[in-house]
Amino acid sequence: MEDTRFKKLIAEAPPEEPARQYYFMEQVRRLVEIKKKSGYEALFKVEVIGCQMSARDGEKLSGILTNCGYTPADSVDHSDIVLFTTCTVRENANERLYGRIGRLKHQCAARDGMILGIAGCMMQEKDEAELIRKKYPYVRLIFGTHNVYKLAELLFEALWKDARIMEVLPDSSLIVEDLPSVRKYPFKASVNISYGCNNFCTYCIVPYVRGREKSRNSSDILRECEKLLGEGVIEICLLGQNVNSYGKDLAEDMDFPTLLSNVAELQGLKRLRFMTSNPMDFSEELITVIEKHPNIERHIHLPLQSGSDNVLRRMNRRYTKESFLKLAHKIRERIPGISLTTDVIVGFPGETEMDFQDTLDVLRTIHFDSAFTFIYSRRTGTPAASWEQVPDDIVKDRFARLMATVKQCSRENEGLDIGKTMEVLVEEADKERKGFLTGRLSNNILVHFEGPSSLIGQMANVRLVESRDFYYLGVAASDQA
Ligand code: SAH
Ligand code: SF4
Repeated sequence: MEDTRFKKLIAEAPPEEPARQYYFMEQVRRLVEIKKKSGYEALFKVEVIGCQMSARDGEKLSGILTNCGYTPADSVDHSDIVLFTTCTVRENANERLYGRIGRLKHQCAARDGMILGIAGCMMQEKDEAELIRKKYPYVRLIFGTHNVYKLAELLFEALWKDARIMEVLPDSSLIVEDLPSVRKYPFKASVNISYGCNNFCTYCIVPYVRGREKSRNSSDILRECEKLLGEGVIEICLLGQNVNSYGKDLAEDMDFPTLLSNVAELQGLKRLRFMTSNPMDFSEELITVIEKHPNIERHIHLPLQSGSDNVLRRMNRRYTKESFLKLAHKIRERIPGISLTTDVIVGFPGETEMDFQDTLDVLRTIHFDSAFTFIYSRRTGTPAASWEQVPDDIVKDRFARLMATVKQCSRENEGLDIGKTMEVLVEEADKERKGFLTGRLSNNILVHFEGPSSLIGQMANVRLVESRDFYYLGVAASDQA
């Protein structure tokens, strides 16, 4: 009987998206209402491991669960559903997940009806998903990057059948629009402009776990941005693995500089950011668009990875040390006050001391405001994983020297804006100083200053008076008389 009813409910689901998912949200809501009568609290927590893409997936999962009748919990300890959206770009991200789920084993056994679920990049790796399936029987929901939108449908089956559900799709060309979403901050939001990646840098697992590049229609992106602005958002970050290749796969005639310009011109948008921009196809038009729109952040993340032509070629990065330097100089020249940050990998297979010196040379020449430094991590299935690896002790030594250079270079950039009054987007109460607020300058640098919490989520003029480790202390401009 129960089984017949389940089959009937599935058969009645609309085939098209997102109507189908809204139908399943309604079905889950009904089950939750029934369960609540016997003490089920319907609390959830979504835990994000990884980059902004993973965080954005987390917002979508939270939105779906909220629409399913669940309430956000203060902590994992009191949750009936705990969902992890995972990262696998480096081995240590995988280790973090295993540590976290290990600690939840007891809770899964003790809390009646508890559902621990794992989604995201790591589940797109066959070996990892298999390991979870075999060795962690208390993980009850396993899905990947291509079916985040389907959480309600999967959850409905898990709840109805009290069963374990695993669905990982190899790739998908489907983009489901208009799903609910819950943001951490009411005043800032991230918007996906494309999914996946076609670049296949030889160290990187992203194209395998996120699939081929798919751009969203520009009208859908603009509609989402307008909706966010209507809800009081003043800062938007456009997300793509390589925003510069946005639109190449679309039927409409659209590219990233045009999209960026269209979004920048939306009424009420105070700040516009984007991530990540590959130096390989960073265009002249893009610089012009940034130049023209003061609300586009004065900050560009320009991942270098390596400064050696030899390594860059084997990484399949499609730019050279010289073209990177030229681009960085041109950006600095055309957009004064711009902050440049980067990513660097040390210990890529075959990297020699001379290659490494080329990387240090670029860092010393460009003086990035900050750099994320990574030890090369061997990712199964990528070309570089089967190449001869650099011995650990050499990698460690280079990493220490890399860190020292990065620190020294960013120190030299510190405090350049002392004395200036600049616009700050106030994000939250300062975690350390009572009565202080924390915000960001247009170049993404943090500023702490004394002020009322009513300023949170607003733009404030702040005079920068002191520079400390990578941030400023300031005074609200109105207090300066
Ligand atoms: N699409 C972005 C990168 C996403 S991954 C881009 O092209 O810039 C974020 C960063 O992780 C990369 O810039 C790179 O520095 C680092 N990374 C990726 N794969 C890695 C690996 N196998 N080992 C170490 N670092 C890696
Ligand atoms: Fe990975 Fe390269 Fe694609 Fe970035 S551009 S996600 S580093 S393959």
